[in-house]
Amino acid sequence: MTNNQQGLQALFGGTFDPIHYGHLRPVEALAKQVNLQKVILLPNHVPPHRPQPEASPIQRLEMVRLAIQGNPLFTIDTRELEKNSPSYTLETLIAFRQELGPRQPLAFIIGQDSLLSIHTWYGWDKLLDNCHLLVCSRPGYATHFSDPIMQNWLQQHKTENPDQLRHTPHGYIFLADTPLVNISATEIRQNLSAGLNSEKSCNELIPEAVMNYIKQQHLYQK
Ligand code: ATP
Repeated sequence: MTNNQQGLQALFGGTFDPIHYGHLRPVEALAKQVNLQKVILLPNHVPPHRPQPEASPIQRLEMVRLAIQGNPLFTIDTRELEKNSPSYTLETLIAFRQELGPRQPLAFIIGQDSLLSIHTWYGWDKLLDNCHLLVCSRPGYATHFSDPIMQNWLQQHKTENPDQLRHTPHGYIFLADTPLVNISATEIRQNLSAGLNSEKSCNELIPEAVMNYIKQQHLYQK
């Protein structure tokens, strides 16, 4: 049995404060494009790059669980949530790589906004030694780096051939042609704290079960 019989494994990290359709819909489309059987959602505990989440780790995990209920594409890995220190993506990827062995194709999914700021991530230049990067389009973000060094890095690693992702363990960047979904968790939190938590303003942004949980827990309401 070879190591890559499981096909391409994909991880999708995020704060998910809360999880929303801007996370779910592009990734579902990406999964079809590159033939992903599974996407492992990886909620952060203490994100190193950004303000601390408003919902607790347990609440964010519960929202992720509710959002993917009945959807066989997604599973959850709680290793970052269980840590009480910043979760650096590179360290998590190294841990996955050790578990999966050197030959298993492994990918990490990000949005275009994350790609454009990737040079601020701890050990960013070693990410591709461990995984491929699969990038979902996000409205309002440039399609190119303004820094020529980063644009050159992207050009060197870019592939348009999904087969390369499955036949190589790591090292490629795939810019997916996913639907543009203009939703952010910041906007959802702002809507809710401004009292715009009616079904009308939030039903198109987050799954109903997540919205019910937000109401029940009185989350994001100032
Ligand atoms: P916030 O508004 O709190 O910064 P967010 O909506 O950007 O949150 P995160 O949990 O920080 O959500 O994002 C996790 C990953 O999902 C990141 O790689 C981000 O680029 C991607 N992502 C989030 N929203 C979208 C979207 N609408 N379209 C495409 N990718 C997205």
